[in-house]
Amino acid sequence: MIRFARCLVVSTCILLVACMSTSSREDAKAIAITGVTVVYPERDTGTTLADATVLISGNRITAVGPRASTRVPAGAQRIDGSGKWLIPGMIDGHVHFFKSGNLYTRPDAADFNAVVPYAQEVARNKARLPATFKVWLASGVTSVIDVGGPFWNFEVRDAADKSDAAPRVQTTGPLISMVADPPLDGDDPPIVRIDSPDGARALVARELARKPDFIKVWYIHRKGDDLAKQEAIVKAAADAAHAAHVRLAVHATELEVAKSAVRVGADYLVHSVFEEPIDDEFIALLKQHHVLLCPTLFVPSGYGLALSGQWQATPEEQRLADPQILATMHDIEKMPKDKIPPRVAKLVAEKKPSTVSKASLENLKRLEDAGIPIVMGTDAGNIGTLHGPSVFREMALMRDAGLTPLQVLRSATTNGAKAMGRDDLGAIAPGKLADLLLLDADPLADVANLSHATRVIKNGVAYDPAALIAAIR
Ligand SMILES: [Zn+2]
Repeated sequence: MIRFARCLVVSTCILLVACMSTSSREDAKAIAITGVTVVYPERDTGTTLADATVLISGNRITAVGPRASTRVPAGAQRIDGSGKWLIPGMIDGHVHFFKSGNLYTRPDAADFNAVVPYAQEVARNKARLPATFKVWLASGVTSVIDVGGPFWNFEVRDAADKSDAAPRVQTTGPLISMVADPPLDGDDPPIVRIDSPDGARALVARELARKPDFIKVWYIHRKGDDLAKQEAIVKAAADAAHAAHVRLAVHATELEVAKSAVRVGADYLVHSVFEEPIDDEFIALLKQHHVLLCPTLFVPSGYGLALSGQWQATPEEQRLADPQILATMHDIEKMPKDKIPPRVAKLVAEKKPSTVSKASLENLKRLEDAGIPIVMGTDAGNIGTLHGPSVFREMALMRDAGLTPLQVLRSATTNGAKAMGRDDLGAIAPGKLADLLLLDADPLADVANLSHATRVIKNGVAYDPAALIAAIR
């Protein structure tokens, strides 16, 4: 596995700035969480340490041990962890900041330009980034990987690095795509059609100049397309990325296409195979090439629910999603009929059930049982999949697929850190970065308990989730 050259630079100056603003978090002095049950998602046995004390100094964990024998330094801020659980901060391995999750965010799927022009939606998403960052933190997600968007994605990463309340952000630029997507183009397109290996190398070179964490290919294969010709483009992108020690993330949702992607160098499949059963050859390829896989179970249903007027906010979304987005999710009901795209009007009239495909659930269970590292990711930003609390929809579906709470938690922490190529995240141990969640219910008893964070600690700074959301209302 190729490691990233780039690491997030965390300076004390960021911490000092963090200390001076917003009332939603506490000072970044030494913190002692006492009497807490520490959870080790990376372990198969001995997954908890009860009645523990965890010490944080600056942005690092400095000690983890039994409360009786772990001395709390004088002056440390004490957080009473009795009756609570401590887990690593969660990582969403698949998000898109250029999209908001609302109805107006994918005019290629549903053209609502007559209601909200797409350029206005993109401008709104840019301007709203500070709130979107807070929503992620409030949901207990302390790192995200943006796997594709316009070149301004790199500014998103810079903004998160400089922000006092934001997740860590890894990112890539425009998708190297097999197809054009004109409704999204604007002056900084997120998706760029490439029709030759040379074209792929040229776009990768432009992105490498911005130090991407991944290069991303949108491997869309339609009936009649020449798979060998497409594969040569993917290989050119993979080789160019790898030559610069950057990994390749690929969207490939059909079995033959996903196999092709892995054969020529995909390091990270950002979706699973959705509609057909996977096979032994696929699993063997994933193992042979050390590929990580992000199943993104909910995102297709998100479109189906939102565009048929059936989307309903979950209790977690009501509590933790961006109120500005929640307020628009039912806009179809109040739109003039002549402004509703015909395809959407049909979906609303039919109100078909929008459930997750059986194949995608069964494939996930089979991949997990085969030992493939599964990375939790939502594809947040797509219509119906909101930034932040959609992680709880995703993890509930992973449970429904048959994963244990420990396996789901591991996908959202340990394996998320693997996807980021970071060994200083995703676990609770001395020397790791202090990205932690304090939960008031046992995450190993029920994945739903992962939404019960009373404190979110990112980079050694403790935040109150409710205060983060109150700050953006
Ligand atoms: Zn995506």
